[in-house]
Amino acid sequence: MMNNIPNKALIGGLWKDAIDNKTIDVLNPANNELVASVPFCTEADAAIAIEAAQVAFEGWAATPVYQRSEVLLNAAAEIRSKSKEIADIMVLESGKPIKEAIGECLVAADLFTWYAEEIKRSYGRTIPSKKPGRKLQLNYHPVGVVGIITAWNFPAYNPARAWAAALAAGCTVVAKPSEETPLTALAMGKILKNNGLPDGALNIIFGDAEAIGNALLVHTGCRKISFTGSTNVGRKLIVGSAKTIKNLSLELGGNAPVIVCADVDVEKVAKASVVAKFRNAGQVCVAPQRFYVHRSILESFKSFVKSDIEKMVVGPGLEEQTTMGPMINARQLKNVQEIITKSIAEGAELITGGSPISINQKGHFFQPTLLYDETGKTGAFKNEVFGPVYCLSVFDTIDEVIDKANSTEYGLAAFVWGNDVHTLEKIAKGMEFGMVAVNEWVAHATEAPFVGIKQSGLGHESGQEGLYGYMEPKLISWGESA
Ligand code: NAD
Repeated sequence: MMNNIPNKALIGGLWKDAIDNKTIDVLNPANNELVASVPFCTEADAAIAIEAAQVAFEGWAATPVYQRSEVLLNAAAEIRSKSKEIADIMVLESGKPIKEAIGECLVAADLFTWYAEEIKRSYGRTIPSKKPGRKLQLNYHPVGVVGIITAWNFPAYNPARAWAAALAAGCTVVAKPSEETPLTALAMGKILKNNGLPDGALNIIFGDAEAIGNALLVHTGCRKISFTGSTNVGRKLIVGSAKTIKNLSLELGGNAPVIVCADVDVEKVAKASVVAKFRNAGQVCVAPQRFYVHRSILESFKSFVKSDIEKMVVGPGLEEQTTMGPMINARQLKNVQEIITKSIAEGAELITGGSPISINQKGHFFQPTLLYDETGKTGAFKNEVFGPVYCLSVFDTIDEVIDKANSTEYGLAAFVWGNDVHTLEKIAKGMEFGMVAVNEWVAHATEAPFVGIKQSGLGHESGQEGLYGYMEPKLISWGESA
């Protein structure tokens, strides 16, 4: 394990306890054992962190982009070289299999590298004026202090995606990573600090999420909140943002449809779909959730999926043979179980799985599950499941399946598999989702925006759009002479 990860908050460059010395325990989801305790901060700690970020802002924003870039590039290199050590910690707090955790650390490093390069090309522009002698100059400036609140499901990727863009842009940050997975974020914070990030440019706190969120919302010194989490909490932030007209970017939940056309290689697509579905035990905002398979291939597709699901090895993430780890906590496991029970009562058929698993009578393990629902109208299809449940349904015509895919308030990722280019184009155009993956299982990329439409998001992280989310345009119009 990476040595000396401080189990403290980072405020103004110092590792600190909460003002009232309260702490919160981080538990290993595979065995419920204590991994560490971290400070449980409240509104007062958040206010101090915001003020530390305000003090640091002037200097960091004025630091030449090449210098800012250097800090991020060096930090990226260290995250990359320590990816196994950071991943070991991530597995202890999140439960995910070690291979997934290492892969995630490498993507987090890539985000710092990419934004370190991209900021060098934030040129601004000169706009031709109607008026002779006038020059309209549009420059981009960092927004200011930003609050960055992130979910536990990707303990490195979620924070890195927002921190890297914000810091590259010249913003300073008050980060509130999830209390479930604080240590990975602290490991990255320590690396940034050790690579020359000035004191106060990145502050990291945990604790009373609502109180900290409120402090970020009401403090006029915090100019923006970037949030990655559930649509319900996103809604609360929208309401709260009215107080100070807070700039918000929200990366929210999803309920991704997958359309599998009749002309695919059934075995290949079915097998790969199981790997994609059960990554991080299905606790992924862009996880494929509702599979609509053409009736002509349904039975063979279903049997390949069932057989591969039953071959999955559920266990602690640090064990080499594990292909799926535990769920994050008891609450999440109970949610998933309730969705399954309700869906079966509503008419879905349980093909395999469906129950918690006891491994040494510990941990939040759940069987990889396959549900079949001809109607596609049961709860497992309507709600974001965020767990290891493969929801299978069927379709006959393209128009019908596009309607079924779109019958959700969410609009994050969607997937389509097929070989007829006209059909693929029709489906991709017809799907009301921000990211449509055609014949691939990854709908997003570091260098491209993460796009949630409908109730899946506002604004963007990732790609160039992510960077510009942390900058504001400023128009300077030059007249001829004084
Ligand atoms: P969550 O909304 O419960 O929590 C997310 C973060 O918000 C955590 O840090 C939490 O402590 C904090 N939080 C909770 N209540 C708050 C409040 N009132 N004010 C301010 N902050 C508050 O979500 P979760 O269970 O941690 O994560 C799962 C959800 O996140 C899923 O819906 C998933 O789809 C979504 N998610 C979206 C993306 C994306 O990029 N679109 C990525 C990852 C996860």
